[in-house]
Amino acid sequence: MTARGGRDKPEDIVAFIGIDVGGTKIAGLLRNGDSIEARLRTSTNTRSSDTVLQDISSVVRELRSKADANGSPVEAVGVGIAGFIDQAEGVVTDSPNLPLKDFHLRELLSRACGLPVFVDNDANAAALAEAVLGAGKGACCLVHLTLGTGIGGGVILDGRIFRGSSGSAMEAGHMVIQENGPLCTCGSRGCLEALASGVAIYNRVKELSMSEVEAPLVDEYMRDPQGFSAETVGRYADAGDATALSILEDAGRYLGIGIGNLVNLVNPDMVTLSGGLMSSFHHMEEKVMSAVEEISIPVNYRRVRIRKGTLGEDAGQLGAALLPTVDREG
Ligand SMILES: [Zn+2]
Repeated sequence: MTARGGRDKPEDIVAFIGIDVGGTKIAGLLRNGDSIEARLRTSTNTRSSDTVLQDISSVVRELRSKADANGSPVEAVGVGIAGFIDQAEGVVTDSPNLPLKDFHLRELLSRACGLPVFVDNDANAAALAEAVLGAGKGACCLVHLTLGTGIGGGVILDGRIFRGSSGSAMEAGHMVIQENGPLCTCGSRGCLEALASGVAIYNRVKELSMSEVEAPLVDEYMRDPQGFSAETVGRYADAGDATALSILEDAGRYLGIGIGNLVNLVNPDMVTLSGGLMSSFHHMEEKVMSAVEEISIPVNYRRVRIRKGTLGEDAGQLGAALLPTVDREG
């Protein structure tokens, strides 16, 4: 893919910076043509909006100086950020893990680094990357889910992000799957995120500990709740632990119901999945696929392929680096 429509001579290749901003880390890369020329990662200082902005700015500055040294100046910066984003205004309306509320990220970052800045939701960025460069290459309608601490989603139609009226379409994690189910971070109950995310899996073990269920997994949680995570459950499942397997299979069933609903609503030809939870996905896969088949209307089910994303942790950063190209062409 060329950096811009019609620019395909080597001297016309320009560099873009893509940054993925999460509650614990900021990861950035410098993309020049089709190659990644530099990477940078730092932990997020979440003390205030100023510290977050400073951290992002310093990642941009450092990557930019590498680009200058390589003789290919940076044309623009894309930022994928965990939260509700007004993409048209470049404003972070709200974020569950970052101290940003109605924060004018595009304007402030652009002023700080002197470059055009494009901002979008991190799951939208990951979806774009998988559609253009990853497992979804060639799909005309792609649904992407990021399965991590929370659950994010994005839809890419003919290479463009579907954003809805205010930029927060495809909040797939907040699709209600179980009425009166567990409380979600959004305040609602029974959301997909409250049933099938990393936090949901952690909370299920916490619940078992409160019901005094006896299992090695629960004992480990009781010994060190802070050190425990969904990955610990995955490790137990790998060793054949029945409690861990049943927790992951339940999460898989809920995830399959969520994906089945999306298949019915969006009629995608491809669903891609990525995120930290994928390391345990082999324990969930059978339940996911059987629920998708059960829920999806046959005409949509026949059409869709469900695949693991191929870009791993790079998806968010690569998608962010693509935002300037995609958004300008629109
Ligand atoms: Zn929710």
